Amino acid sequence: MTHPTDADCVFCKIVAGKLPCFKLLEDGATIAFMDINPVNPGHALAVAKGHWPTVDAIPADVLADVARTAQRVAKAAVKALAPEGVNLVQANGAAAGQSVPHLHIHVMPRRRGDNVSLNWTPVPGDMKDIEAVADKLKAAL
Ligand code: AMP
Ligand code: ZN
Repeated sequence: MTHPTDADCVFCKIVAGKLPCFKLLEDGATIAFMDINPVNPGHALAVAKGHWPTVDAIPADVLADVARTAQRVAKAAVKALAPEGVNLVQANGAAAGQSVPHLHIHVMPRRRGDNVSLNWTPVPGDMKDIEAVADKLKAAL
């Protein structure tokens, strides 16, 4: 299977075996390996083998493959590490916290009080504003 690649991309280098990783699994379209800056023990990444930067660029079937791989890793984390929770996190663009522009899903085992700053406190929105943005989104679907 051929994939788009970017010679300067760190994840493309890992996919190509030019950089080392702690590999968990690999299939035709995806690879999963440990994050080397873990927020918690077991923090891993499910990564498309092809170089697509973001969720709007990647083909839907490959995104589904990455999601399947993330689920496999999450199930292994639940079984092997018994976390109190797991987050799947996927960032697109620097403003969203993306540092590697090659699509990946973080699998983050969580514990209460672990101070990983992902969680927010819900504050009710203005229903008119919510409806207006919903209308914009529906027009773009
Ligand atoms: P994001 O900030 O969502 O783009 O996530 C990129 C993640 O890749 C970060 O959590 C980094 O710690 C991780 N990372 C960067 N380089 C490597 C590498 N060579 N091996 C494993 N993980 C990496
Ligand atoms: Zn890449």
